[in-house]
Amino acid sequence: MSNAVLPVYGPSPVVFERGEGVRMYDDKGKPYLDFIAGIAVNALGHCHPVLVKALSDQANKLWHTSNMFRVPGQERLAQRYVDLTFADYAFFTNSGAESIEGCIKIARRYHWAKGDTDRIGILSFEGSFHGRTLGGISAGAQEKYREGFGPRIQGFRSIPFGDHEALKRAIKEPDLAAVIIEPVQGEGGVREVPEQCLQGLRKLCDEHGVLLIYDEIQCGAGRTGQLFHHQWVKDAEPDLLAAAKGIGGGFPMGMILSSEKAASGMAKGVHGTTFGGGPLAMAVGNAVLDVVTGDGFLEQVRRVAGTMQQGMESLKGRYPELVKDITGRGLLRGLKMRDDPLPLRGKLSDRGLLVGTAGNNTLRLAPPLIVTEDDVREAIDIIDQQFATMMTAAGS
Ligand SMILES: *Cc1c(COP(=O)(O)O)cnc(C)c1O
Repeated sequence: MSNAVLPVYGPSPVVFERGEGVRMYDDKGKPYLDFIAGIAVNALGHCHPVLVKALSDQANKLWHTSNMFRVPGQERLAQRYVDLTFADYAFFTNSGAESIEGCIKIARRYHWAKGDTDRIGILSFEGSFHGRTLGGISAGAQEKYREGFGPRIQGFRSIPFGDHEALKRAIKEPDLAAVIIEPVQGEGGVREVPEQCLQGLRKLCDEHGVLLIYDEIQCGAGRTGQLFHHQWVKDAEPDLLAAAKGIGGGFPMGMILSSEKAASGMAKGVHGTTFGGGPLAMAVGNAVLDVVTGDGFLEQVRRVAGTMQQGMESLKGRYPELVKDITGRGLLRGLKMRDDPLPLRGKLSDRGLLVGTAGNNTLRLAPPLIVTEDDVREAIDIIDQQFATMMTAAGS
């Protein structure tokens, strides 16, 4: 079949027609349990009534004005995120990559405004993923995403994940402006950074006047049971945070959170965006935050995450020939497989369960946050049945 879409994706042959809650239905009416949620985007599942109402109400009022006019929903959402986090300012974007670009600009500008004009270095960790723009692939430590796109932007460098000696050397480099890290690596294999490492990193950054940027594009928005993952960790707040994916619940939207200090180089005209913070996105963004901060919502995420943990442990215990490890936190989880999980993903889809994959042979599970314990048991059952079939096939 010919396809006019630039051939950068390899979509599965299934065509989805509609979604409701944690389920999606294909064009033949077959239901699927959605345990990837548009890669951690549909935080409240499909067509959540609160989001549908917020979006359609706003669609009947006003779509776009540009940031040359005040957007009341934007000011309200900024204030709400500031009240809930370390931040003093929020800036709204349209995507994760745009949030990363903005964080890098703000960090470099902070040093520039203090007269440290040569401080442009950005340090990242191997296995990290920070989006597909030139800044994003320069920040990201995976060479395959940079291949053919010219040299890495000046100042960007990476060190191995978990190499404390390399970090202690790199943090002292006089041109270093900021360190960027995913508190839970998503694409790299759903790996949680140990709490003491985030705390240690915060301390090192403070000692050397380096800003700390968290990429919580995937692990934020309530996914690990806190509004932002780092809120689990004491004394490890960042100076800047990039968000996107789940905070828009499926409406394209990103956000930068900044401390007052980190933003000290920013002023009128220094940065901007056409679509970011527009009325439609802000209506949905406020509605997502209403639900996620609602009574008992994050407690329920943590409870269901416990059921998921148990289910994954039992899979690992019963199929050690297939599962090497379980990784991640909350509802951002990985089953690290002994073999490439891509064929397995297809088999699970045939059985009505949608999952993703990530680096390091990881099968990625990121269901909508509204998932119930019964949904989780159903998903684990489907994986169990598939594993049992694989073991029988291997034994025969
Ligand atoms: C998805 C993702 C990005 C890129 O976001 P886009 O919206 O695709 O630009 C960056 N960092 C992390 C951790 C992500 O998961």
